[in-house]
Amino acid sequence: MKFDVVVIGAGLVGSAIAQEFTARGQSVCIVEKSNDVGNGTSKANTAIWHTGFDAVPGSLESKLVGRGYFLLENYAKQAGIPIVKTGAVLVAWDEEQLASLDGLADKAHKNGYEKTKGLSQSEVRNLEPNLSESALGGLLVPDEGIVCTWTTNLAYATTAVQAGATLYLNTKVVGVNSVPDGMEIQTDTHQTITGSLVVNAAGLYSDDIHRMFGHQTFSVTPRKGQLIVFDKLARNLVNHIILPVPSSKGKGVLISPTVYGNVILGPTAEDQTDKTDTSTTQAGFEFLLAKGQAMLPGLVTNEVTATYAGLRAATEHSDYQITFHLDQKYICVGGIRSTGLTSALAIAEYVAEQLFIAGHPIGERADILPAPMPNIGEDFVRPYQDEVAIAKNPSFGEVICHCERVTIGELDQAFDSTIPPCTLEGLRRRTRATMGRCQGFYCGAEVAQRLTEAKK
Ligand SMILES: Cc1cc2nc3c(=O)[nH]c(=O)nc-3n(C[C@H](O)[C@H](O)[C@H](O)COP(=O)(O)OP(=O)(O)OC[C@H]3O[C@@H](n4cnc5c(N)ncnc54)[C@H](O)[C@@H]3O)c2cc1C
Repeated sequence: MKFDVVVIGAGLVGSAIAQEFTARGQSVCIVEKSNDVGNGTSKANTAIWHTGFDAVPGSLESKLVGRGYFLLENYAKQAGIPIVKTGAVLVAWDEEQLASLDGLADKAHKNGYEKTKGLSQSEVRNLEPNLSESALGGLLVPDEGIVCTWTTNLAYATTAVQAGATLYLNTKVVGVNSVPDGMEIQTDTHQTITGSLVVNAAGLYSDDIHRMFGHQTFSVTPRKGQLIVFDKLARNLVNHIILPVPSSKGKGVLISPTVYGNVILGPTAEDQTDKTDTSTTQAGFEFLLAKGQAMLPGLVTNEVTATYAGLRAATEHSDYQITFHLDQKYICVGGIRSTGLTSALAIAEYVAEQLFIAGHPIGERADILPAPMPNIGEDFVRPYQDEVAIAKNPSFGEVICHCERVTIGELDQAFDSTIPPCTLEGLRRRTRATMGRCQGFYCGAEVAQRLTEAKK
């Protein structure tokens, strides 16, 4: 129960940090209150792979999103995580927005992103012929893309565990205590875990953990983002991510293809006090559908496959809350609001680099060899299409979820994996089973039965 590093939280950020420290030869323990990795904010975002062109220049977020963009691209390719450089078209819908495009290009330049290109009304129309005619002009951001958040999080955590990290699921940190050689973590499972260093990557609860260490420098106000997932028949309506002109409230409502072949519309930006309320609302849908109708009229007549909401860990500050309290053997990595999917690898790298600069013994970094992930994206060969895989294991030819074309071989692969799913939701995130048009109406019972059998 004594580790070099204890990481609180197995979201994208905590898992990436655990992976970084194991690669540096440290003994690592990840403590996660939920029953799975990637079960907090990291499971319900918009899944855009950001270039960081619109970040606040000079901010830590700008630096880490820009760096994270490149790290994630390489990592995803090695791990087999679905990632696609679709490019984004930022659209101006009125004269005021049109006038702000030059400023946005300038901001991109300040953020180190040089490739934006101004678009006339007809150029926007050529790139996106289904957009509403009220589009007046735009800005092309050719390197923005889409990625799978679920297998990204799973890859970080799996790689860390395969490299020796200990993962405690269903274990909530309820208190901390200073001891001579580090910090002691108390859990609701009555374990006492000691870390020579403790990293707080608790997402929405990072302010609560920060307070346990005696710091009150920020509070998290959950900012809800509701999204609508449209049927795959809508996929041909868009070629790029369609971005709005960002405002002080955030990046605004976008339309984006997903790596699974759907189209999403969202998110909303609604501040609330409840850190657990991820419900969707009638008002939220009406707001989104009105936005969708104004931007891409053909979209809203398509069938809706699913809806969801995620909560951003917004704080009173505009930047990430990454602070080092080495006298307490404690690092806070909180307030990673709306770009953490892109920046997590860079955050992990930054934490390690800062520790090195501070003289903390963290070891040389070995190359990280990402654990291979199952391909659940549509731009790459899926198991049911892979004759070689089927020849080796015929269960990759047995489709169980016909909407998403998930095979029995993929379910078995998930059950036998380093971090197996223990719920249907966890299995969905690893395979896409039951996530299609019928939402499990046809295959749900059999998929659930197989999960129950696998858990015996
Ligand atoms: C609507 C929306 C859209 C977004 N879109 C994008 C996007 O397009 N691109 C992008 O790059 N980013 C996006 N993001 C941001 C991104 O999803 C987050 O920055 C990222 O998921 C944060 O990861 P995290 O690890 O900090 O938090 P989390 O994923 O929430 O992980 C924190 C973990 O800590 C655990 N925990 C909390 N308290 C305790 C405790 N006491 N003991 C033990 N464990 C604890 C939680 O259970 C949780 O698993 C979006 C976010 C939202 C909500």
